[in-house]
Amino acid sequence: MEASIRQELSNAQRLGIMGGTFDPIHYGHLVAAETARVELGLDYVLFIPTGESPHKNNLKVTDAEMRFEMVEISIKNNKYFKASRIEIERKGPSYTVDTLREIHKLLPKQEIFFITGTDAMIDILSWREPEEIFRLARVIGASRPGYESQKHLAKIFSQYPESRDRLYQLEIPALAISSTYIRSRVGNNKSVRYLLPDEVRMYIENNGLYR
Ligand code: NAP
Repeated sequence: MEASIRQELSNAQRLGIMGGTFDPIHYGHLVAAETARVELGLDYVLFIPTGESPHKNNLKVTDAEMRFEMVEISIKNNKYFKASRIEIERKGPSYTVDTLREIHKLLPKQEIFFITGTDAMIDILSWREPEEIFRLARVIGASRPGYESQKHLAKIFSQYPESRDRLYQLEIPALAISSTYIRSRVGNNKSVRYLLPDEVRMYIENNGLYR
């Protein structure tokens, strides 16, 4: 992790980690992070765009540097939001357990809340070392309204009883926006205004992304 970020976060007690591909980041992600910050009393939220996603065909994912730049542009006016290149710099697939271990090693006193989409979270049993993830962090699944995850969560709880007080769902109405929807609209030459920050919209346009 970047030394400057470690220094800034060293006084935090409760730290949110916002993990995602962010291809591109949009207002749904930003509202989810802000809601989690307020509801869970987090001191900071650290955005960590994935480097190489273990579950994705990376040919279809935008260059990590560009996804990172879009995240940086989006959060620059919020003093509680930071972004880290920790997964981009690490070689090989971005396993969440490796990221959490590294953060825990550098910031051992902080309580960690890993925030991601509920549909990503319910697959957690297929991730590397889920038990270790539950030990290192609480996992918050941000969901779209009406998203049904109870059946999946019950399965996780029965297989890993220790996850019972480590997994939560947080409903975020603004998550009706999705990166897939934005990519498809850009591809069809339709407006994405008001779905994501204007500067990110300009970045997409200037770099010819999702065409
Ligand atoms: P994804 O499949 O691209 O996204 C799944 C769903 O969750 C999408 O609807 C997505 O909406 C939403 N989402 C993703 N991140 C979000 C966030 N931070 N806040 C709110 N909604 C979010 O999932 P992904 O982005 O590749 O992975 C999510 C996180 O899980 C990453 O940090 C990844 O490293 C981790 N993960 C780890 C493993 C592993 O360790 N083996 C495996 C899979 C995922 P949008 O498309 O609108 O973002």
